[in-house]
Amino acid sequence: TLTLSPRMSRIQASPTIVAMARANAAKAAGRPVISLTTGEPDFDTPAHIQEAAIAAMRAGQTRYTAVDGTVELKRAVIDKFRRENGIEYRLDEVIVSTGAKQVIFNAILALIDDGDEVIVPTPAWVSYPDIVKLAGGTPVEVPTTAETGFKPTAEALAAAITPRTRAIMLNSPCNPTGAVLSAEDYRAIAELVRGRPDILVICDDIYEHITFGTTEFATLAGVCPDLKEQVLTVNGVSKSYAMTGWRLGYGGGPAPLIAAMKVLQSQSTTNASSISQAAAVAALNGGLQCVEEQRQAFARRRDMLLSRLAAMPGLQVLPPEGAFYLFIGVAEWLGATLPDGTVVATEADFVDQLLERENLAVVGGEGFGCSPYIRLSFAASDADLSAAMDRLERFVGSLT
Ligand code: PLP
Repeated sequence: TLTLSPRMSRIQASPTIVAMARANAAKAAGRPVISLTTGEPDFDTPAHIQEAAIAAMRAGQTRYTAVDGTVELKRAVIDKFRRENGIEYRLDEVIVSTGAKQVIFNAILALIDDGDEVIVPTPAWVSYPDIVKLAGGTPVEVPTTAETGFKPTAEALAAAITPRTRAIMLNSPCNPTGAVLSAEDYRAIAELVRGRPDILVICDDIYEHITFGTTEFATLAGVCPDLKEQVLTVNGVSKSYAMTGWRLGYGGGPAPLIAAMKVLQSQSTTNASSISQAAAVAALNGGLQCVEEQRQAFARRRDMLLSRLAAMPGLQVLPPEGAFYLFIGVAEWLGATLPDGTVVATEADFVDQLLERENLAVVGGEGFGCSPYIRLSFAASDADLSAAMDRLERFVGSLT
């Protein structure tokens, strides 16, 4: 028989992808499931971006590119970082990969050795801890709470730093909580790493353009240019431009790290799809109007959901400042009973029963390192979101 590498026992399938697959299986079985599991804009990729991809294909841009991306796209990335974030990168300080996920994967694999520690404030995107474990490292969770708006405090981060700390993972706007770090928050975090040039701060800015006006978006390398050699700024087109399926992300950081990431990528995927790269040039150079239209739709949906949730008992929710998720505390309902006597004892029961009774699929907080919570994506149509609120309301209304 085949035996798998022990490496595989360190990681699990992405819980959000598992939840999505489960919802899809229920749909395929004919059930009228509404899935609010994945973080995927429901909009089409804007037309001018699609046209650029078609033109690229017709012009024969269908071959391997340079590992770290076409010069045209790297220049568009450099211009974006300068224009939107005030960061100056050179060509050897940026890399283009198959999604922001691969940028992070490359960086962690290039940086982390057995026993190295990576600080991950939680709740956090499901993939950070597992990528660290795959590399042999230890994710060091720094739990945050609703009391601090789910932002990691400088004190809590400072307490987690040890001689083995090699990286700190920051994600603002945050998936799943929607917390946004201010320039002030970043300055406080910068103080922690100024005397530790061996620590890299990874800023995952993938939700940059999806904010709701309460805290202005900032990013560490823009706020503290003196720290540029210690920061990897990660971004991509998936969420801002409704391009999840194109698989295109990019990063800017210290040249030696970017060079190592490039070596790694040369032995795995080589380059991001040439056609997606051409589309990304059109996206980054094409202005932010299409992004703004989508942001307004997300803002409207967010407000609709928050006002519906305010009328539902026993659910704790902090208005998200960015991204497109609601992270809802369900502690008050644990131990409650459904009309047929079934007890909702755990977060997993809540998620399972919501799918079973009301055909509403969400993701449990456990995968994000914070229970008992559910995460609900509002990157879905208005009709689905409104029906989802009816279902959730009926579900909690049936609990006693
Ligand atoms: N980072 C965060 C915080 C995310 O939520 C996601 C997607 O869900 C990603 C990165 C992955 O983005 P990409 O599609 O560019 O790989």
